[in-house]
Amino acid sequence: MFKSELVAAAGERLKAARTVSIVSHARPDGDAVGSALGLGLALEAAGKTVTVALADGVPVAFRHLAGAARVVSQGDPHADCRILVDCGDIDRGGKAWLPEWPVDINIDHHKTNTRFAAVNIVVPEAVATAAMLAELLPLWGFEITPQAAEALLTGMLTDTIGFRTSNVTPHTLRLAASLVERGANLSELYFKALVERSFESLRYWGRGLSRVQMEGGLVWTSLTLEDRKVSGYSGNDDADLVGYLPTVRGAAVGVIFVEQPDGTVKVSWRARPGWDVSTLAVRFGGGGHAPAAGATIEGALQEVQEAVLAATRELLIHAQHSIEEGEH
Ligand code: AMP
Ligand code: MN
Ligand code: MN
Repeated sequence: MFKSELVAAAGERLKAARTVSIVSHARPDGDAVGSALGLGLALEAAGKTVTVALADGVPVAFRHLAGAARVVSQGDPHADCRILVDCGDIDRGGKAWLPEWPVDINIDHHKTNTRFAAVNIVVPEAVATAAMLAELLPLWGFEITPQAAEALLTGMLTDTIGFRTSNVTPHTLRLAASLVERGANLSELYFKALVERSFESLRYWGRGLSRVQMEGGLVWTSLTLEDRKVSGYSGNDDADLVGYLPTVRGAAVGVIFVEQPDGTVKVSWRARPGWDVSTLAVRFGGGGHAPAAGATIEGALQEVQEAVLAATRELLIHAQHSIEEGEH
């Protein structure tokens, strides 16, 4: 799975470093938080001075993880070793990492990764960056402590939606089991990361769900600034509603449009197995994976929605043709 010369090159840089700066992406998900904290805690246990930076801080769902309270908002470009985790390109760090700052190690699983670091360990088949680290840390000779195991298992849980994505293999489950063996509590971490939610987010979902639309295999809805005000939801995201859109019987792709205060719209796509929405996201300036991708697009909600829905309909029609052609 890993190229041994890259693992060795990254390992040398890590072992030689006294100070390490770890950064992950803005609007962090569980893999961003879990892989950054898991790596940080393991390196700290090996005596290194570590800072973990996330431009938007740690979401409530992950604040129980060790080290969450020490996360800062900007990385240290002067650290001996500078690492970006779970970032497909250097801009993903947002305000936590300026694009002109050099990166020593890039650890990621996005197919769209732009290989921006001195050492790039990019494995698109990996279910999560945290899963890569669960393998890499022992290869480098660093111990995965119980607290690091909790962070890494959280990253695996969230990127696989509780081991429900089609890329989950026996190997994924063995890696997760190894983290449980090291002391991570699966049921507690599962509940915290994927099940528990705020009352406000439920009301916010209600607003989005009341406007949900379906056309062929396409299911979509939007969430507005007004929806957030009325429901009392304080984030600028979709509160994970998008994941429920392709659960509709007959759906292939779900899309959600989240109006932002700065005149942009955050678009998220989620696809059932067999569809690739990452190319669509790239076309709109974003990125991601075949089944889950996103982009932030400038423009009013209505206009972004029309452009994105047109492109997504086209993908569904063309891909459908190629699937049918491939069948005979
Ligand atoms: P989201 O829709 O934000 O939940 O993201 C789904 C997937 O797409 C995640 O793997 C993100 O890292 C990736 N992604 C989302 N937005 C962007 C973006 N603007 N650029 C690159 N990748 C993105
Ligand atoms: Mn992520
Ligand atoms: Mn990830």
